[in-house]
Amino acid sequence: MDGMLRIGVLGGMSWESTAEYYRILNEEVARRLGGLHSARLVVGSVDFAEVERLQVEGRWDDAGTLLADEARRLEAAGADFLVLATNTMHKVADAIETAVGIDLLHIGDATAGAVVGAGVHRVGLLGTAFTMQQDFYRDRLVAHGLDVVVPSPADQNLIHRVIYDELCLGRILETSRAAYVEVLDRLVADGAEGVILGCTEIELLLDPDASYAVPVFPTTRLHCIAAVDRAL
Ligand code: GLU
Repeated sequence: MDGMLRIGVLGGMSWESTAEYYRILNEEVARRLGGLHSARLVVGSVDFAEVERLQVEGRWDDAGTLLADEARRLEAAGADFLVLATNTMHKVADAIETAVGIDLLHIGDATAGAVVGAGVHRVGLLGTAFTMQQDFYRDRLVAHGLDVVVPSPADQNLIHRVIYDELCLGRILETSRAAYVEVLDRLVADGAEGVILGCTEIELLLDPDASYAVPVFPTTRLHCIAAVDRAL
């Protein structure tokens, strides 16, 4: 298909979820076009240890510079638009957007669109501590008219720890799955009508197709679907 745009995936944060992007983007294009069709894409993958160190040290400007450099490489490699394959690093979305002449398809917009489309107004948010506590992500959701509820501090610690100590290392533990479902249920008790799986690795732990007390919104899958909408 000649008209298909080339998707630039800025990934490696962690590669465990970037592998999911690669799989889902290809499956979605094949599902829509049939036969041997697959996604046109280029992947730029950074060293997550470097990014995580900058996060912990609060060096977001340096992280923005690192990702802006990677975005320029993807543009030079022929990407028509970009997807940043992590919720957390959307904190530096501006640095990426100003570095390139192509669009960044924001994960928060793709997610909020699905939440609003499902008729959910008060939505729970699971993600890294940065995503749950800071304004950059929540504000993006609020701009779509959503009311955002986050877990208690103790539950936030648990969610954050499992992401970095397990999911980003490819460790999928049944005990953590059960703990996540308990946190989700507490968000529902707090009035959440749906819950955003706002970290691109959470779908590795919580199957988005399983049934929960309320609908879940898997950001990796939703971001990929939005990217394929755009590419086609
Ligand atoms: N992939 C995660 C996210 O979606 C966390 C890893 C990161 O800090 O980028 O937020």
